[in-house]
This record gives sequence, C-alpha cells and structure tokens, in this order.
Amino acid sequence: MSKRAISTEQIHHPYRDPEGWDAHPVGVFKASTVLFKNTADLHQYRPRDGKSYRYGLHGTPTSYTLAARIATLESAEHCLLVPSGLAAVTLVSLGLLRPGDEVLVPDNVYGQNRYLSESLLPQFGIQYRFYDPLDAAGFEAMLSEKTKLVWLEAAGSITLEFPDLLGLMAACKKHGVITALDNTWGSGVAFNPFEIAPGVGVDVSMQALTKYASGGADVLMGSVCTRDLALHERLNHMHEHLGYGLGQNDVELVLRALPTLELRYRAQDASTRALAEWMLSRPEVAQVLHPALPDSPGHAYWQQTSSAGAACLFSVIFKPEYSSVQVDAFVDALSLFGIGYSWAGPMSLAVPYDMGRSRSLPSRLAPGRVVRFAIGLEAADDLQADLAQALAALAG
Ligand SMILES: *Cc1c(COP(=O)(O)O)cnc(C)c1O
Repeated sequence: MSKRAISTEQIHHPYRDPEGWDAHPVGVFKASTVLFKNTADLHQYRPRDGKSYRYGLHGTPTSYTLAARIATLESAEHCLLVPSGLAAVTLVSLGLLRPGDEVLVPDNVYGQNRYLSESLLPQFGIQYRFYDPLDAAGFEAMLSEKTKLVWLEAAGSITLEFPDLLGLMAACKKHGVITALDNTWGSGVAFNPFEIAPGVGVDVSMQALTKYASGGADVLMGSVCTRDLALHERLNHMHEHLGYGLGQNDVELVLRALPTLELRYRAQDASTRALAEWMLSRPEVAQVLHPALPDSPGHAYWQQTSSAGAACLFSVIFKPEYSSVQVDAFVDALSLFGIGYSWAGPMSLAVPYDMGRSRSLPSRLAPGRVVRFAIGLEAADDLQADLAQALAALAG
C-alpha cells in the first residue's frame, strides 16, 4: 500500500497503549465521539446510567468515576453531574415540577434559586412561595395538593439560619412532598443528607461542587444525588434535555481535590469558629451568624441534626450606627480577604450585603449592615489580626 499522508497516519495510528496500567489518579478521558466496535454495537440500546458509553456528553470513564465518588460522599445511590451549582438547582426544579405545581422555597435560600423561582418558573406555569425555615408549623400550613417540591437549605445562604430540618421533613413526609436539599454548606461532611436522623432523609441532595469538592476556586460544577431510582430517572431525563456537559479537565481537578475534602472542611471549620467567636467579643458588632453560636437563629436545630460540623462561613451584623459607607470602608481595609463571591477556596473572602433586597419575610435578625465572611486556608491568627486592623477603619 502506498504511504498515506501524515494527517491520515496520525489520525489512524495503529499503536494502542498496553493493558494493565494502574495508578491512584484517574485518567482524563475526553471525547465527543465515542467509537462503536461495529454497526451491531452502534444499534444496541445503551441506557445512560453510567454503565455504558454512547456519546461524550453522556459521560466518560472520568466523569462516571467522579459521579460514583460524589454519590458515596453524599451517601446516595445515584449522581448526576452538571456544569455548575446553579445548573444543579435548575435541573432539580425543572426536572420535578410541571405546570400547575407549586414549589416552596426557604426565604434564606441561595440567591439564584430565589431568582429562578421568581423569574423563570412562573413562565412555565409553576408557582412558588417563600417559607420561614424556622417555623415548621407555619410551613406545614402552607402545604397543599399543588405542592410538589420543597427546597431546603442548611444553613441558609448569607444569614446562616439553621432550619428545623426534622420538623420540615416530617411535614413533607406526612403530605408526600418531595424534598430537595441544597447541601453545599454540609458538603457531605457535616451530616448525611439521606439519614439526618434515624429514618429521616431528603429525597434529593444537590451541591455546588464549585465550593468544597473543588476547593481550588478554579472550577464550576454541580451534583444532584438521589437514593431513589425512579426519581433519578426523572432527573436524568431532564438532564438529557438540558444538554449539560462537563470539561474533563475540570472533572480531573475535582477528583484530585476529593481526598483532602474532609481535612479542608474541618480545618476551615475550626478557623471559622475561632474568628466568629472573636468577632462576637467586638463592641462594633450587633450579631454574629454561625450555627454553632448559641445566639445564632436555628442553633438548637443545628445541634439536633448535625455531627457538629460547620462550613467556613459566618456573617456579622454591625451595629446600626455604622453606615453602609463605613462598613464598605471596613471591607476595603481588609488585606487578606478578597472581595468576591463564592467560598471554600484557599483565599478568605468578605462581601457586604443589603439583606432587604433578598428576603420576603420579616427578619429575625438584628438591624444593621451585614458582611459575610468565607474563611480560607490562611492561618486564623493572621486573619484575626487583619480583621482587627480593619475594624479600626470602621470606627475612623
Ligand atoms: C455557590 C452556591 C450555589 C451555586 O453554585 P455555582 O457553581 O456558583 O453555580 C448553589 N447553592 C449554594 C448554597 C451555593 O453556595
């Protein structure tokens, strides 16, 4: 046979790597096209369940491995991976709700989940209402025939109230309503979402893997886990429609970070508590929000249901005499805290919030300007010194 062109030779090269490779890191397999052995193989039905390959969008050995490990982290049976935490929220709401249904969302839910419920779901004929996650009796009174999904978040975003999970879930169980937990805060470490107390677990647990699972502040990814196969299949069906795909290098980064997830979670937890407690002693502060602090809303519920773990977040409400300009000046005066969204990465972050715009129900919190801190992996003493010098800027 005459010699083929270089491009043809390179594309159809006969070398195959030898079998028998084994190492701890998982290979990074990338493809849009997955090759079939022959047409008979092509025509064979392949369920998209992580057990066969059909097309790169539906999974590769790399992404199936991550899905299996996240399912284990969440004590679940099934896991779908998506390109961001928000994509996971959207998958759950669109996958489980239909026109005429109503979803109940906690008032302190992650901001983009609130926005999805207020802006997009009504366009599909889906109604929403916000509930107080600390008032299980009031919540139960809101459940109706139309309620098909209840979102839970523990602890809630920014203000970190810990919900009455057991009370809320007992009401959902009584009325046969599906529960979906945004478990980004717990990350599979603080508590088991499918076994929060004996016999009490949520139906769906989603996470922004962007946070702890990645840990590097360099990846956006999400997961949706279930124990129930029928529920998983409903979600998987929507997953296909939405065309959610993942970059396999991002999958690789999360796989690389999972072995240190628990160590990072516990180390960041310890520094966060130390700093939250120190902030509590400061005269400029009206309230510190962290579920482990006795005065933080929902503290007793946190004690009931968790293994006493907590994420790297706390918020401070400054006394009302401090104006938003002064509080902004405090944040600007911090040198070790970046100003920006997200959390659970190596660098500590601080963001001032105006809570009035993102809550519908009356507040249980002290009045005043809120700053949310995400504690990274720096030494807690260095962070405390930085907070102390910036508080001087607040007064000045
Ligand atoms: C960050 C976050 C999300 C969204 O994750 P992205 O990957 O940034 O889209 C969802 N829920 C909670 C609680 C989060 O903190």
